[in-house]
Amino acid sequence: MHLPYQTDRGESRGPELLPARSAGGEDRAVLASPAFLGNIRKITTPPPTDKTAIHRRLERFALLAIVRKILSGLSSKSRKGTHQARIVTKCLRVRRKKFVEVWKSTKNGLHYYGGLVICADVWSCPCCAAKVSEHRAEEIRQAVESWEAQGGTVAMQTLTFPHYENQRCAPLLDKFGKARILMKKRPSYKTLMNQIGLAGDINRTEVTHGANGWHIHCHTLLFIKGNIRLTAGALLPLWASACESVGLPSPSRAHGVKISTPKEVAEYIAKQGKETSNWTIEKEMTKGHIKRGGMEGMTPFDLLRVYRDKKEERFADLFREYSQAFRGKRQLVWSRGLRDLLDLAPELTDEEAATSTDELDELLQMIPAKLWEYIRKHNFRGKLLEAANLGKETFRQALDVLQACAGYVCTPF
Ligand SMILES: [Zn+2]
Repeated sequence: MHLPYQTDRGESRGPELLPARSAGGEDRAVLASPAFLGNIRKITTPPPTDKTAIHRRLERFALLAIVRKILSGLSSKSRKGTHQARIVTKCLRVRRKKFVEVWKSTKNGLHYYGGLVICADVWSCPCCAAKVSEHRAEEIRQAVESWEAQGGTVAMQTLTFPHYENQRCAPLLDKFGKARILMKKRPSYKTLMNQIGLAGDINRTEVTHGANGWHIHCHTLLFIKGNIRLTAGALLPLWASACESVGLPSPSRAHGVKISTPKEVAEYIAKQGKETSNWTIEKEMTKGHIKRGGMEGMTPFDLLRVYRDKKEERFADLFREYSQAFRGKRQLVWSRGLRDLLDLAPELTDEEAATSTDELDELLQMIPAKLWEYIRKHNFRGKLLEAANLGKETFRQALDVLQACAGYVCTPF
């Protein structure tokens, strides 16, 4: 069986990869033993300097595998009206092409897969969320820089409402969205925004979960002409009135509206595109984090981490509920005309951002279906990319080990 792949020089050659004896045979069992697989772990042991970044990238694939497990029983309705498995359960797993490709990015030198289904579900897929957020973060930084260069200022408002344990996520999200739209449509809000010289905004909806249930909130960057400062006191009555109109409890003076200081805005912009997590084993051990909760909640991907560490089904249930409530919603919304004002290119969809590549990226390897089956079944997707990130020699070694484990032997010809 000839399987073309690329050499270090990008040339194509075709080594013979032969199945090792019979499937499940003695030799194969030895090769696939945990001790042997340990070699791959050694190969992909990260260098100390970049340990956190490598850990994060590896964790995304591990969390994606958990998402697949949690959401595998759910379906979504297609445009034709038929029900099908949630696409996130196929993301970076199911092939779209005969071969799975490994590419090297010219932009950051990191490797990624091609030829696979990409879900672009920014709410539920840790891998797609990271890629899309990185792209969106860059655009937000450009927007703020461009606006400030034009003499404008950027403020940030955060809106939320009182919430309690055992409330369902979907109806809260629905009411929260309606309250925001209602407030923005009302003359009182338009007058206030005219007074401060609002030119446009970028809104991001977020959710965490804590002892008081689902904490749905939004951060809105306000692009303001001049230096007139918006105060929480001016906005709170408008927000409270909108919340009451849609059946939400009235937001408190302390938490309902927050207008961030310039320093906080800068910090918020700097952390865009970076993953946030409130979950650590230490917190759980020392503070009884979930049981006591408090204002500090867990992000949806934290729920996956807790489920992974504690194996308690209630965290899987919470993620499932969140994922169903948020799927299909837009995470980041630019007001109409703002991108033109800032001279930015038209916005990419989540799908375009999740699948964006550079034409100068280098194709390193084509992986045949049988080997890919082995890699995905044994959760080596992230580790193989990290091996590639460490260099071509390490990648080649990792691939040889995986090929042997999967039941292939390479024979020179
Ligand atoms: Zn995805």
